Amino acid sequence: MEILPWWTEKNKRFAVEVEEFVNSELRPLADKIDHNQAMEVQWEISKFVVDKGFHPLAMLVEEEHGGREEGYTGYTILNEEFGRCYLNINPLLTTVFGGGPVHLFGSPEQKENFLTPMLKGEKWTAICVTEPDVGNDASNVQLFAEKDGDEYILNGWKRFITLGANADYLMTYTVTDPSPEAQATHTHLSAFLVPRETSGITIEKINELTGNVEMFNSVIRFRDVRVPEDNMILFEGDGWTVMTSGLNIERLGIAATVGQARMLVETARSYGRRRVQFGAPISRYQTIQTRMADMAIQLKLARTYLYALAAQLDSGSADMFQFGVDAAICKIFSTDALIEIAEDALVILSGDGYTEEFLAASILKNALLTKVTGGGNDVLKLFVGRQEFKKTPDPSMLPRVLRGVDPNDL
Ligand SMILES: Cc1cc2nc3c(=O)[nH]c(=O)nc-3n(C[C@H](O)[C@H](O)[C@H](O)COP(=O)(O)OP(=O)(O)OC[C@H]3O[C@@H](n4cnc5c(N)ncnc54)[C@H](O)[C@@H]3O)c2cc1C
Repeated sequence: MEILPWWTEKNKRFAVEVEEFVNSELRPLADKIDHNQAMEVQWEISKFVVDKGFHPLAMLVEEEHGGREEGYTGYTILNEEFGRCYLNINPLLTTVFGGGPVHLFGSPEQKENFLTPMLKGEKWTAICVTEPDVGNDASNVQLFAEKDGDEYILNGWKRFITLGANADYLMTYTVTDPSPEAQATHTHLSAFLVPRETSGITIEKINELTGNVEMFNSVIRFRDVRVPEDNMILFEGDGWTVMTSGLNIERLGIAATVGQARMLVETARSYGRRRVQFGAPISRYQTIQTRMADMAIQLKLARTYLYALAAQLDSGSADMFQFGVDAAICKIFSTDALIEIAEDALVILSGDGYTEEFLAASILKNALLTKVTGGGNDVLKLFVGRQEFKKTPDPSMLPRVLRGVDPNDL
């Protein structure tokens, strides 16, 4: 793994530890897996990883709650190395994204009751944002929670929930105040960790997904589901804050795509040097070299920016609104890069790239998913573009005829 100049000694030690674990234990396991059957072993691998002390969420959590405190850089190192194995570890990923808000905002009791069992691999969590009529417009959640004494009663639907039928907890976003004033200030939502076995929850499997990404995707119906107030994360009206902060952890989790990109670059490199056509290794041909260069450039930029963001969070000095914008930029760039890298790898490997031995086509198919989930790239671009136009123009960059005009008047 390439060490970056700003990594601390702790980061470097952790990178060595993770790389050793992945090379000696995880990659040999990954090599034995038929990737079309990977869905059957995703639980087994997730539990194995947790037992070995490498739950990604544990990297962020304090030791007193069962974590390892390796920070966002450690979390990213781990995700990158997991991506390099191209393993199906959905139970771990959804638990990170669903359990992340408990780590960020949970009370000490909630951390003890919910987070610690997640980190031990005893409990798994799914994340419930999407609904039949709510996709990218995530603040438009319709699932309603009405207060009744020290409980809330939930009614409505969620859709596309990965592992919805298997998780122990559903990290669920609901409306608690539908008034226009609350909507305007984004205080209309609240977040609950709902035990899946609660009476009134029914779950159906959604249509089969494309690709070898068996995620036990589900539609969930909530009918008079009673949830104790103690399961609310932060306070009533804080659901948007909880959701968007959790999404930042999710977007940094795209490190896995950087790991997959690295795997593809490494595969294409060894393949290109070995494969001979027209009497020479194909690595000697400029068409192959420019594709390799494109792959290397995309990987380098995606990886460096990702770790710069992780370091910013670790420093504790990140402006969280700006971080949201930067995390969106990183998510867009890394996921688009993975698609382009996978396509280049597929062309370099050609026929072999379309086999399960080399996985380029398989990774390409699954990479398409990363473009539309976790905030679709097109919609995230709207957010980034709007923020750019909100910045005050630099007066020195105005045409001479406009010098002296207040930039705020433009
Ligand atoms: C395999 C899989 C697993 C998933 N797992 C989960 C999960 O665990 N939990 C969960 O909550 N969700 C999950 N999802 C849902 C996923 O997050 C949503 O699919 C995603 O948010 C996009 O929503 P949508 O599909 O409804 O698309 P839509 O939001 O309906 O978008 C459709 C199109 O319209 C465009 N569009 C939308 N709004 C605008 C706008 N304002 N301006 C311009 N263009 C716009 C979009 O860019 C897109 O091209 C999963 C989805 C899949 C496929």
